[in-house]
Amino acid sequence: MDGRDVIEPGGERILIVEDQVEFAELLRLWLDRHGWQTLMARDGGEALRVFEEEGADLVLLDIGLPGPNGWEVIGRIRERSQVPVLMVTALGSEADRIRGLRAGADDYMNKPVSFPELIARVQAALRRARPHAAATEDPGIIMRGPVHIYPRSHRVLIGGIEIHLTPTEFRLLRYLAEHPGELVAHRELLQAVWGPTYGDDTQLLRVTMRNLRAKLASAAPERRFIATEYGLGYRFSEG
Ligand code: CA
Repeated sequence: MDGRDVIEPGGERILIVEDQVEFAELLRLWLDRHGWQTLMARDGGEALRVFEEEGADLVLLDIGLPGPNGWEVIGRIRERSQVPVLMVTALGSEADRIRGLRAGADDYMNKPVSFPELIARVQAALRRARPHAAATEDPGIIMRGPVHIYPRSHRVLIGGIEIHLTPTEFRLLRYLAEHPGELVAHRELLQAVWGPTYGDDTQLLRVTMRNLRAKLASAAPERRFIATEYGLGYRFSEG
C-alpha cells in the first residue's frame, strides 16, 4: 500500500442505477469526465438485466427504485458477484447505512452527494478491487495456521474451505494477517484498507468486520481469528 488516494482511471465500466434522470445524467457527466465508461439503468429490473448482459466493474446503486428496489438488486448481484457496489441514496439514517453495508455494499453515500467526494470514493473502490495491484506488492502466499491467503488470485482458504470475500473484506483480512499478534488501530486499518481519507469512519470498519467474521466463521465456526480490542482496534491470531 503506497498511500495514494488518486489513481488514473483505466476505462472501467460503471453501471449507474438511478431513477432520477437529471441526477443520473449528472453522475454520467462526472464519471465520463474522469475517463470511465458508463452504463445506465432507470429501475431495478433494468439494472439486473444490464448487469447480467453487459457486466460492470462497479455499480452505483440508488435504493428507492421502481421495480426491484436497491436492497433487492444488491441481494441478487451478491448471489454471484463481488463487484464493488456503492450505494447512493436519499435514505440517510444510520440504520439504512448499516443495512446497506450488511447487504454487501462496499461504501454508502447520502444524497445530496458531493461529486468530487463521489469520484474519490469510486476511485478508492476500484483500487481495492484491482487484484493485480495488490499482487505485485506482495506476491507471497500468507499462511497463518488454517488461514491461507493468496494475493495473486484473491482467494482465501480456511482449513481448505474456500470463502468468498468482497475486495474490501479481502484487503481487511490480508492487512490484519500481515500483522499477526499486533494490535492494529481502527485508524490504521481504515487508511490501509479504504484509503487515506477514511481514518474516522469506524462504522464502515465495524460493519465490514462483522461481514468478514461471519464468512470466517462459516468455514471455521469454532475458531476466532480476529479479536476486538475495545475502543482501540483489532488483533489477528491463528485462532
Ligand atoms: Ca430513487
